[in-house]
Amino acid sequence: GDFLVKRALLSVSDKTGIVDFARGLEKLDIQIISTGGTARLLRDSDIEVTDVADVTGFPEMMGGRVKTLHPKIHGGILCIRDDHDHMGEAQKAEVEMIDLVVVNLYPFEITVSKEGVLLEEAIENIDIGGPAMLRSAAKNYRSVSVVCDPDDYGHILKEIRSTGVVSQETRELLAVKAFRHTADYDATIDTYLSKELLGQDVLRMSFKDGVTLRYGENWHQEAKFYKEDGITGPSLANAKQLHGKELSYNNYIDADNALQTVKELSCSKPAVNIVKHNNPCGLATGNTLLQALQAAWDGDPISAYGSIICTNTVFDLQAAEFLNGKFVEIILAPGFEPDALEYLKNKSANLRLLDLPELNEPFEVEDTYKYVIGGVLKQSRNIGIYDKWECVTDMAYPEELRSVSEFSMHACKCVKSNAVTLAYEYEDGCYMMLSMGAGQPNRVDSIRKLAVTKARENLQVMYDRAAPDMSFDDYVSDVFSKCVMASDAFFPFDDSVVYASEAGIKYILSPGGSIRDDEVIATANKLGVSLVFTGMRHFLH
Ligand code: 5GP
Repeated sequence: GDFLVKRALLSVSDKTGIVDFARGLEKLDIQIISTGGTARLLRDSDIEVTDVADVTGFPEMMGGRVKTLHPKIHGGILCIRDDHDHMGEAQKAEVEMIDLVVVNLYPFEITVSKEGVLLEEAIENIDIGGPAMLRSAAKNYRSVSVVCDPDDYGHILKEIRSTGVVSQETRELLAVKAFRHTADYDATIDTYLSKELLGQDVLRMSFKDGVTLRYGENWHQEAKFYKEDGITGPSLANAKQLHGKELSYNNYIDADNALQTVKELSCSKPAVNIVKHNNPCGLATGNTLLQALQAAWDGDPISAYGSIICTNTVFDLQAAEFLNGKFVEIILAPGFEPDALEYLKNKSANLRLLDLPELNEPFEVEDTYKYVIGGVLKQSRNIGIYDKWECVTDMAYPEELRSVSEFSMHACKCVKSNAVTLAYEYEDGCYMMLSMGAGQPNRVDSIRKLAVTKARENLQVMYDRAAPDMSFDDYVSDVFSKCVMASDAFFPFDDSVVYASEAGIKYILSPGGSIRDDEVIATANKLGVSLVFTGMRHFLH
């Protein structure tokens, strides 16, 4: 049943909002008990308060280490109200009920994140009585409400004001929140002390709201998705699904790649990424979303079937109409125009539309993690594209190609190794990935068998559509002569340059750093290829 709130205990380190909250409680005739600092603050604001010391009959002692740790407090919180024996014992020991516990803890995390903090200071910031009260109250959530977050004050007051009680549903929510809070708190202490006392590095992360996915990578695998606790900014965890069936495991992987790739460009123009099997197969920028979408699609019209599309631009009707008759799994965008949304909803019941208003905000995440059997790898995110810009060949590298070269390297960063990308400026200031070579165990195959071959195929489609006044071979040579090939790692031999040059490619970006760099450079000079070394490798496994 619901119990009237008659007596509240307030003991907070973070005093945000506490005075208004206490004033609200006082107006509802709720008696307030409080600890030293909190009591003082409330009294200064003319709120009537009973000191915890008057309830326990003991002064706060040992510099605040022992304040509320007493049966008169914990009995009042833990007592089961509709248990006859409990209530009898309480009466005999003169323990009065506490119906509302408002506690937030000593700022341990803030303390230990300060430069040069002493162990003693950290230890004094380990809250003992606070977590005990939070856990007592959370354990007894059937009778007691526990509040550990100032954001909840308003809502609680409103509930008590309108019904006289805090509802069962709210108490359950608050109890889970309190236990998560103390669990996180203890985890932070463990992490700190493991390092300080034992020299051990501990990793603890918290994920919640697990949802079951239809299946894992394959039908016979089970799968779930958990949100990172407290995640803000651009993340699939924050995307709102507006339409379509639920996401699958592979959808999450691909949509995440799509999101990261689009954001990698950090382009002020519309940009579109098309992903299949965790690789961008189409990537382009354009003056309009439609133009970018068309150019991205041209990067691999075959693979775009059943793909995942991500853009940095609100999805409009023109772009939606472009997809007529084309099968797409997901569209992820920072919003949808109402008419585009309507159109896409009618297009297919299954098409997933993901709205992520924060898409263009910077990532809040600094590290990435990968599970291997029995362990987790952690690394900082791969930020940046080059350390230096050094033309190493006789033939100078034209400065006008800098932007498209950066585009090509951005694309290359997001393609699985060994990766090469061919990109060109298909219209003033608009770039497209003409093709890419991904995931090969050697670089030469990525160039010769994939990127170059695929580029010719894609150009055939574009040639047939545009029907320009020249032969197909001239058309191909013209595009290839403007193309920038980016490589995610150095060339171990000069063969990559030879194959690229045979295809008509003149401009190449590579991190450099091979023991055969001299050989590679000599070959580039001989073939009239211009080569820039960037000094930054971009393996992606
Ligand atoms: P105040 O500012 O009111 O003096 O202290 C509030 C803080 O004391 C809260 O963060 C609360 O969690 C903590 N606290 C309450 N009772 C005890 C106790 O018995 N021992 C310790 N170490 N901390 C307590």
